[in-house]
Amino acid sequence: MATERTLTIIKPDAVAAGHIGDIIKIFEANQFKIVAARLVKLTKKEAEGFYAVHRSKGFFESLTTFMSSGSALVIVLEGENAILRLREVMGATNPANAAPGTIRKLYAASIESNAVHGSDAPETAAYEMGYFFPGIALI
Ligand code: UDP
Ligand code: MG
Repeated sequence: MATERTLTIIKPDAVAAGHIGDIIKIFEANQFKIVAARLVKLTKKEAEGFYAVHRSKGFFESLTTFMSSGSALVIVLEGENAILRLREVMGATNPANAAPGTIRKLYAASIESNAVHGSDAPETAAYEMGYFFPGIALI
């Protein structure tokens, strides 16, 4: 297994609900190290650029409106097998299907307002880290 970096976002719903600390505690308890972080309020255009891969989806308009609705905390995490492990710690996209103890089971309100983002593969992690932290080393 290799040390990897991945991008997570504590989304506007979880920031507004006061769960930044709870979620970072879960990252740290799972041996993820924070290597960069920015509190941002995305413009609609920035949210659209970040989620460009979903442009053709029916939920794109609503998702990018939600993601630009308030402050979000963008974080680069580092750890062993970080990309896949983060996805496990996050839980399923729809909190109704998320396993007990996962971040989305604990803190997500709906399939859209689902508390956290996590990169889903090395290629997307590279794109997403570069989107918010230009120049950051991939590892
Ligand atoms: N999303 C949504 N409706 C859907 C599927 C996804 O609103 O039917 C939102 C949700 O916020 C999700 C994001 O779009 O986190 C990106 O979707 P993706 O399928 O990439 O899920 P993720 O990788 O975040 O689990
Ligand atoms: Mg995704």
